[in-house]
Amino acid sequence: MGRLQKILIPFLGLVLAFWFYSARDTFKPEMLRGKRVIVTGASTGIGEQMAYHLARMGSHILVTARTEAKLQNVVRRCLQLGAASARFVSGTMEDTAFAQHVVREAQTSLGGLDMLILNHVGASYFGFFDGDVEHVRKLLEINFLSYVAMTTSALPMLKESEGSIVVVSSMAGKVGFPFTVPYSATKFALDGFFSSLRQEFTIQSINVSITLCILGFIDTDRAVRAAAEVLQERPAPRDECALEILKGAALRRRELYYRYSSTRLPLLLRDCAAELLDYLVRSRYRLPAA
Ligand code: NAP
Repeated sequence: MGRLQKILIPFLGLVLAFWFYSARDTFKPEMLRGKRVIVTGASTGIGEQMAYHLARMGSHILVTARTEAKLQNVVRRCLQLGAASARFVSGTMEDTAFAQHVVREAQTSLGGLDMLILNHVGASYFGFFDGDVEHVRKLLEINFLSYVAMTTSALPMLKESEGSIVVVSSMAGKVGFPFTVPYSATKFALDGFFSSLRQEFTIQSINVSITLCILGFIDTDRAVRAAAEVLQERPAPRDECALEILKGAALRRRELYYRYSSTRLPLLLRDCAAELLDYLVRSRYRLPAA
């Protein structure tokens, strides 16, 4: 009997733990039905694909970017796919006032907000750091400060809905990457700001989740144009990437890695073998002979 108890109790514990964690892990599209969502950088790429997935799930969607004609098409397609509602605001995230205006638009037209997806990214170069400090400043405004401004403006609505903030970042925001120095700096800044903010939310019992998304190479037009010649890696599909981000967000994950094998696994080396990880990153590049 004693031996049976020794085996049975840990076994039951394992079964319960498995049940708890697997139940917690189940994503259902209904989780996003009727949710009021802002997606930035949604005129193309991963943001556009997130808008279409949200539309299929029946969300209320507000998309934004600079190019009005593309946003009009995205809104039209979202309505065809079954969005509860879809609208756009066009403008540039170089301007903090515009970032705040987008959030106000959600308040007026949607009456609140459940999810803020921060995904837009300003254009940068792919090459050795050229010393242009103004470019770094401008990129920080687009890729970082506008994220901070939108979060600050949206927080009252997100607190009320106990909603979510989704921050789309990159492997280049977790480990040094050559040829993307200004871009990497903006992505590291996002990690610092949002990981610290998450700590404060916990201390203050603010029930707003923050999901930081660490992406590898994805097959969006801009990324493929910039890096396909140099990176010895096949890009992952943008529509699958978009869906994984939404699943992670709906499940209120703290971090989301896509693809897992090319992001989370190499990052395990960061603390114990940083130089090996740096070497592995460099070995993914086709570099000209020195
Ligand atoms: P993308 O195809 O280049 O799309 C960028 C989006 O941002 C577009 O909708 C663009 O629209 C908008 N945008 C650019 N400048 C803007 C500005 N000044 N103000 C407002 N909106 C602006 O990018 P993506 O490849 O889908 O990347 C999406 C996110 O994933 C980014 O945060 C990126 O860092 C991250 N990521 C991508 C990869 C990858 O390999 N693709 C890898 C890691 C991380 P307009 O031009 O119309 O404004």
